[in-house]
Amino acid sequence: MSEISEIIETLAEICGRSSVSNPIGLHEPDFRETRAWEYVKDCLDTGWVSTAGKWVSRFEQELCKYTKAEYAIAVTNGTVALRLGLHLVGVKPGDEVLMPPMSFVATANAVSHLGAIPHFVDIESNTFGICPQSLADRLGAVGEKRIDGLFNRETGRRIAAVVPVHIFGNPAEVDKVKQVCEQWNIALVEDAAEALGSWLGETHCGLIGEIGALSFNGNKLLTTGGGGALITNSSTLAERARHLSTTAKLSHPWEFKHDLVGWNDRMPNINAALGVAQLEVLDQTLEMKEELAELYRCSFERFEDVEFVTPTEKTSSNHWLNCLRFLDKQPDCAQRRRLEVLERAHAQGILLRPVWNLLHELPMYVDMPRANLPTAKDQASRLLNLPSSPQLIKR
Ligand SMILES: *Cc1c(COP(=O)(O)O)cnc(C)c1O
Repeated sequence: MSEISEIIETLAEICGRSSVSNPIGLHEPDFRETRAWEYVKDCLDTGWVSTAGKWVSRFEQELCKYTKAEYAIAVTNGTVALRLGLHLVGVKPGDEVLMPPMSFVATANAVSHLGAIPHFVDIESNTFGICPQSLADRLGAVGEKRIDGLFNRETGRRIAAVVPVHIFGNPAEVDKVKQVCEQWNIALVEDAAEALGSWLGETHCGLIGEIGALSFNGNKLLTTGGGGALITNSSTLAERARHLSTTAKLSHPWEFKHDLVGWNDRMPNINAALGVAQLEVLDQTLEMKEELAELYRCSFERFEDVEFVTPTEKTSSNHWLNCLRFLDKQPDCAQRRRLEVLERAHAQGILLRPVWNLLHELPMYVDMPRANLPTAKDQASRLLNLPSSPQLIKR
């Protein structure tokens, strides 16, 4: 039997019965063992379905309790959370923001929505997060400290922030990234969209830098339908986030006084109700995720030219998306075998995905500044995401 067939068989065993008409997705929501129905019904019965209500505050409180953040601000999605976070740390139109090229497109979009410019730096191959050494090298090569900030001497633009991404829920080496940021005096905003339940030591992802963005989109580990949040330990940032996300309205019983150009970014109550229900079972969800990752790890141990990618030991990952790496010497061979696995798995309803196309290869970002990106390029042709819904463990 060829190894490709063995890979498909192993996946089929873990995923259970699937077919093209009844496929298994990468990460599917599951509300069956939650009180979501009851909480949403409360919103409908009381009429509190929109941008204010008890479920929003409760969701924020529970998020704080779980992540140990001082403050959480629930918003409409993860992209919005990231855009708001970047704005709050001072990213302005025309500034550059450093980030890894291997991420979901929203990381770069959030920067672009502010009129700022993504600037790509290479990743490292264990966590797929931004590589602290490449970041330091890049800043050493193009960074110029002036009295009014750090500038890119090649483009003349200010470099305002770094956005590490905790890819697939694996904590990036943000502790080391933070040292580089301190050395160059630039802001650190974490894209923790995939990382609810992931920790670097005692610190929840998103809380190492100034502010972190979470996403509760339908395919994430916890979903509110659509939603996101900022988490931070800074009272100033939290207050401004709350103010700007609620049209910058000054509190008054009847007057409409707004003191800034704000956004309408608050999470609706009905979505927050789903969030509270899911947070109540988060520990069980994470246990099942851990079990599933362990099952994948054991099942792929005997393979020689693919490996199951496990996060490094000193971090704790939520295992949002499990990931297989093709170990062929040549990236094109890896890519060819990956395509074969993709085609055969999809034919039987197992909806695997290759890792995202690299951001600097997308048409709107091809001309953005970037360092050499050999590791990102190499890894991008080797990685395959596996079905990762926690309920696979209960089937
Ligand atoms: C999901 C995701 C986002 C955006 O979140 P949305 O809620 O979909 O807007 C941002 N960054 C990364 C890395 C993500 O995976």
